Amino acid sequence: MDTSTGLNDPVTTLTGVGSRIAARLAGLGIHTVQDLLFHLPRRYIDRTRLHAIGSLLPGQEVLVEGEIELAQVQYGKRRSLLCRISDGTGSLTLRFFHFSRMQQNKLVRGSYLQCWGQVRRVANKLEMIHPEYHSLSSEELGQVEKTLTPVYPATEGVSQAKFRKLTIQSLDIFESATGSLSELLPEEILTRLALPELAVALSFVHRPPPEAEVDKLLQGIHPSQQRLSFEELLAHHLSLRLLRGQFQQHRSPSLAKNENIIVAFLDKLPFQLTGAQQSVLEDIQQDLSRNSPMLRLIQGDVGSGKTVVAAIAALQALKAGYQVAYMAPTELLAEQHYINISNWLEPFQIPVRLLTGKLPRAEHDLVRQELNVSEAQFVVGTHALFQESVQFACLGLVIIDEQHRFGVHQRLSLIDKAGDLQPHQLIMTATPIPRTLAMTLFADLDISVIDELPPGRQEIKTIAVSSERRAEVIDRIAASCRQGRQVYWVCTLIEESDALQCQTATDTCEVLKETLPDLAIGLIHGRMKADEKAGVMAAFKAAELDVLVATTVIEVGVDVANASLMVIENSERLGLSQLHQLRGRVGRGTQQSDCVLIYKPPLSDFAQIRLETMRQSNDGFEIAQKDMELRGPGDLLGTRQTGLPALRIADLSRDAHMLPEIQNTAEILINNYPEHVQLLTKRWLADRVVFANV
Ligand code: ADP
Ligand code: MG
Repeated sequence: MDTSTGLNDPVTTLTGVGSRIAARLAGLGIHTVQDLLFHLPRRYIDRTRLHAIGSLLPGQEVLVEGEIELAQVQYGKRRSLLCRISDGTGSLTLRFFHFSRMQQNKLVRGSYLQCWGQVRRVANKLEMIHPEYHSLSSEELGQVEKTLTPVYPATEGVSQAKFRKLTIQSLDIFESATGSLSELLPEEILTRLALPELAVALSFVHRPPPEAEVDKLLQGIHPSQQRLSFEELLAHHLSLRLLRGQFQQHRSPSLAKNENIIVAFLDKLPFQLTGAQQSVLEDIQQDLSRNSPMLRLIQGDVGSGKTVVAAIAALQALKAGYQVAYMAPTELLAEQHYINISNWLEPFQIPVRLLTGKLPRAEHDLVRQELNVSEAQFVVGTHALFQESVQFACLGLVIIDEQHRFGVHQRLSLIDKAGDLQPHQLIMTATPIPRTLAMTLFADLDISVIDELPPGRQEIKTIAVSSERRAEVIDRIAASCRQGRQVYWVCTLIEESDALQCQTATDTCEVLKETLPDLAIGLIHGRMKADEKAGVMAAFKAAELDVLVATTVIEVGVDVANASLMVIENSERLGLSQLHQLRGRVGRGTQQSDCVLIYKPPLSDFAQIRLETMRQSNDGFEIAQKDMELRGPGDLLGTRQTGLPALRIADLSRDAHMLPEIQNTAEILINNYPEHVQLLTKRWLADRVVFANV
């Protein structure tokens, strides 16, 4: 790389950066002048035009100016300084909760102010709270900025003004440095996509010229921004491919397929595998027999039968003499899988253990010891499996269920656990991700899809009912129960407060018991002890309970085939994928299933679309697609969920159209410009976690 000294110098070489600011910048991953150049504006604000006060609307962020009509301290619940300005078209109140005497003295009637801030409506008047402002002389009226003002991702102790000053200095160094920054994208790509060179794009986004197309810039679709977004997504994609390359250097145990045991296992199943299950299983079996690690993602809609596929894969590892760890996202699910898998594997004399955080200390210790000396062959657990203290004697396969709950880092920390031989990894998810997106974001994985449901499944009929008709719903549900149907009744809350959710479920359960004394009603929530939960689930499975009142702990994985009615309260507050997951708890048998979404009116536009989508579709792919349109894939996948570091400028929903071209470009770079691959990932991801532990 061209190392023009200026750009690689530490930020302390810039004016205005002492050790305090440098430390704060380091917190944002900014160490050098070049890092500052890649600290890109998150958005822009438009101070190029003044707004007439009379035309303001609440919510707008605007620049206004006017003459001070009044400035006084108001004593109320909170003391505040109020300053009213007028520009002849209307008047606006500026409100300051924190102010100094000096500030107060400067706000004199008859003088002029220019202010920038967000307009709010308070008691039918328009206000700005803590606007940025400065005084003007009458000659200075009407003077505005010539260009859009960048807004940088900030950190405490470094103001926007500081960032603007620092980036201006960095740009000067950049522009005067000979050779400057290397262009790492091939010219053929830039030409084909009509994207500007790096140098042009960087200067542009930090200091948009006056003639820049404001609308495009504000939307993030200006070619200069797109060029940088493209490069950023490419860097992420490449980093995953590098990661995969490094991962594949490792050796893994080659686990031969054992036809006899699989036949014996399939014989005992009460059903036949679907064609889709079979073909995915074949992919896995091939991977396992190799001596390089499998890293395979299985996508399959809720109820498509992923567990049994995983169990057969496990058999292959177990039979070859290796241990298998099966990781579930919740305690409840781990417990359920533990029961199922123990039953399935019982005829084969394979010891199965459960390891969750809730286990009593002594039991926990025992399981760990067993794993350590290879007495326990198959362990089902939660995050507890990641703990430092868990050491496997000969881990051959790791199965991660409901991957959308975990991230890349967790995948890695499991990898890190292994000794000389890397275990194979099978990752399962019910959140279908469109193919191009998956290939970009999960470029470190192979992907198989179970695109078929077991035969005989009926569409789940879904209705949405206002909470005003809750009593009616209860009556109808009671009638269904008396005809032998089993019901889940899910209580949700918008706050992520576990305690509140449990309380609501407990209360609902009490009310239902009182109203319906002839029905057997059970309760399950996350705060119950493991054996209590297991007892309730077993009772529900054995049809000793008619109704199971639950929190969202039952969201994933719970499998009771004869439950055929799902009631979800406050459904307007849940996202589509969560609704789809919850609904997927029914419709697992062959009888007709129903889902009742109770909502509190009035519905927001988005909530209305969500409920409508649920009514119209049972297809996980379709629902995920809609979810992505509504929330954007960044949100759907979430940085937490993908484990990808946050994006600086790219936005997955806005920039999704680039993904095919990004893969294409990645190929070109890997084949023709291999030295650029490292440079690009270093430029955008630097010391970020993606490379840890590999
Ligand atoms: P998911 O993919 O959501 O994890 P599960 O593995 O929980 O789905 O399977 C859902 C239900 O379907 C389970 O009761 C399972 O035993 C059953 N099942 C799985 N495969 C088949 C099949 N091929 N035919 C019929 N039932 C099946
Ligand atoms: Mg499952």
